[in-house]
Amino acid sequence: MFQGLSEKLQETFKRLKGKGKLKEADVSEAMREVRVALLEADVNFKVVKDFVAKVKERSIGQEVLESLSPAQHVIKIVHEEMIELMGGATGKILIASKPPTVIMLIGLQGAGKTTHAAKLANMLKKQGKHPLLVACDIYRPAAIKQLQVLGDQLKVPVFSMGQDNPRDIAKASIVHANQNGQDVVIIDTAGRLHINEELMGELRDIKSSVKPHEILLVVDAMTGQDAVNVAESFHSDLGLDGVILTKLDGDTRGGAALSIKAVTGCTIKFVGIGEKMDAIESFHPDRMASRILG
Ligand code: GDP
Repeated sequence: MFQGLSEKLQETFKRLKGKGKLKEADVSEAMREVRVALLEADVNFKVVKDFVAKVKERSIGQEVLESLSPAQHVIKIVHEEMIELMGGATGKILIASKPPTVIMLIGLQGAGKTTHAAKLANMLKKQGKHPLLVACDIYRPAAIKQLQVLGDQLKVPVFSMGQDNPRDIAKASIVHANQNGQDVVIIDTAGRLHINEELMGELRDIKSSVKPHEILLVVDAMTGQDAVNVAESFHSDLGLDGVILTKLDGDTRGGAALSIKAVTGCTIKFVGIGEKMDAIESFHPDRMASRILG
């Protein structure tokens, strides 16, 4: 995960540590390298600019440069600012006071919605909840089947009404959950290859019919800044409660993870780190920053 960025930053800081006493020019040189490393990792341009400016401003104070281990001090500042950049996530589902808690997963085709609907159900089941998976991706019969297979595997019930209207399916699933003691409803919606009005209209329709407690966007980390743009569009149209950033296991760069919060204001709640049903983690900015900085 994020190997490229991690290696570059670690090299920069190793050089900085080798210098002993630091001058302002040393910090500036290191920040130039940090800037390039972040841009190469596909972090949003403005995010990089603000990040480097903040770290630099905090690092060139006398207190830092004259401290006993100035390089360590600079690295600590980078670490703190990186947490701030990705910050604020809770990595939790807000459970409604009156069940069922309704979670709606949205996103483009192939991002990992169906897989993550099942992963979330599995996670919540382990926490003692009784989830219901709902198949609202009516355009691809394979998607309904995929959800049913995963549900069978996890022993989680799947609610489906075939090719019916997604809004009606979602509404009926809540009644079904109430009647059958299921306290969390996870709605898997249809994606498209690109964002379009038809998709947004359909999602708005489902949203207004079931009033979800959580609308979570599923985006593929490997698409870098495209993932950030997708998050911006979905957030402005539907209002997101959080993001599930998938395929982090294959992401060598890290641009999406480092930009989404800063650009859109949406927190990353969970990350997908593989195809298996337990390959989901709560997102912890501090752990992520530590992973990157080594
Ligand atoms: P959907 O169209 O958004 O419902 O996407 P799917 O859930 O069908 O996922 C598309 C593909 O991505 C499938 O082959 C999944 O196994 C794979 N996938 C989903 N999440 C992850 C992840 O976190 N890591 C990896 N490596 N693959 C994933």
